[in-house]
Amino acid sequence: MPSPDPVPFPDPAHASADRADGALPLLDLPASGPQDTRPGIADASPQELLSWFADRGEAAFRARQLADHVWSGRAQSFADIHTLPGALRDALEQDYRFYTLTGTERRQADRGLTDKALHTLDDGRVVESVLMRYPARGSRRERTTLCISSQAGCAVGCPFCATGELGLWRDLRTSEIIDQARYWRNELATEGRRLTNIVFMGMGEPLLNADAVLAACAALSDGNRFGLGQRHITVSTSGVVPGIERMAGLRRQYKLAVSLHAARPELRDVLVPLNRKYPLAEVVAAATAYADATGRRVTYEMVMIDRINDTPADAEATAELLRGRLAHVNLIPMNPVAHTPWQPSSPERVEDFATVLRAVGLHTTVRRNRGLDIGAACGQLAAEKAGEPAPVAVQRRRDVIERRSAAALLGGPPTGVADVPGANPGGPA
Ligand code: SAH
Ligand code: SF4
Repeated sequence: MPSPDPVPFPDPAHASADRADGALPLLDLPASGPQDTRPGIADASPQELLSWFADRGEAAFRARQLADHVWSGRAQSFADIHTLPGALRDALEQDYRFYTLTGTERRQADRGLTDKALHTLDDGRVVESVLMRYPARGSRRERTTLCISSQAGCAVGCPFCATGELGLWRDLRTSEIIDQARYWRNELATEGRRLTNIVFMGMGEPLLNADAVLAACAALSDGNRFGLGQRHITVSTSGVVPGIERMAGLRRQYKLAVSLHAARPELRDVLVPLNRKYPLAEVVAAATAYADATGRRVTYEMVMIDRINDTPADAEATAELLRGRLAHVNLIPMNPVAHTPWQPSSPERVEDFATVLRAVGLHTTVRRNRGLDIGAACGQLAAEKAGEPAPVAVQRRRDVIERRSAAALLGGPPTGVADVPGANPGGPA
């Protein structure tokens, strides 16, 4: 039998315990159906598979035969693995699911360069993944980046994010995370393309589901399993300090992205409600320790919202907070998808912001939103599926968000920067 899950699954108690103070869920995800209690085959570690075959008196090479088919994409079901005897295929089917995604709806954008998938899980919940194709340019080789989800919904509730409106229904299990990548690897194979990068920037907060996410990262970067290099996997977090510390302790080369969005604590409390639990100063200190431990530059993401976090004072505060650190700043004009009262910053305001950061030597890029027309911002398709919320609920949410941000905008000069250990070590990065 497969070994039991280390974490009971699903675990609603954990979900509600992690609900961030200040989150304002607006929609309910589609109702949950009956669950398939079998783990996914991608949940099974190489050791577990060896034991599974050994328990049946089978040699170790059988485990390798199975793994070859699971990870290469050559089979679409256990029944397809003809090198295994029929009785073993049936036994595998009883204990495991070959795929944990029961259906996928697709939409395209950017003239076929961006593809969005809405995956249905065994209990009827839905999660999204987005594939972005970057053609070769100059000396840069062609890249294909997949953005995957770590949770169905999210407890953090950032007020500009479509996933945040849903609240959290449940964590994904390791195989449900990996199977998004297996799905796309198979699809890409039919185009003769390879997946080159995976980013955890879909639905959910990866480090509030760290056991499953880190197990998925291990499988995705294992040469005998999915086989992507550690440096090609990015974990994006809204700032779960214990999770960042845990990643630093692993001494792996995964890329860390921190969703900063504001360098003023009172504004970050509004934009990323988890800031009340893990304050800015601690987040940046943990991310800096990650950079020190791994030698890898941390990406700080800033969703640029018109006249909310894009003012000259915000640019100065961000420059002060990050100068001298092993950092890269990515400015992302807000995708106006959620029922947010806000608008994206204009290209000019984003450029002015970037100029202030570059002046202190911070490597800064501006990201063009991909797939806007198909709702590529995380959670938008899932929110559409969940239905339109009542207008009165939308209005109430807008009022609360506007009240909170107005109070934060009135807040005095930037504070808290000087408290961050290692801030302003004097000089550009
Ligand atoms: N929960 C994690 C990872 C998923 S969100 C995190 O917050 O980092 C991935 C990225 O998408 C984050 O940087 C998030 O701020 C950004 N994002 C969410 N909603 C957005 C929107 N409406 N427009 C632009 N970026 C958005
Ligand atoms: Fe959750 Fe990230 Fe969306 Fe915030 S931006 S609500 S942390 S998914």
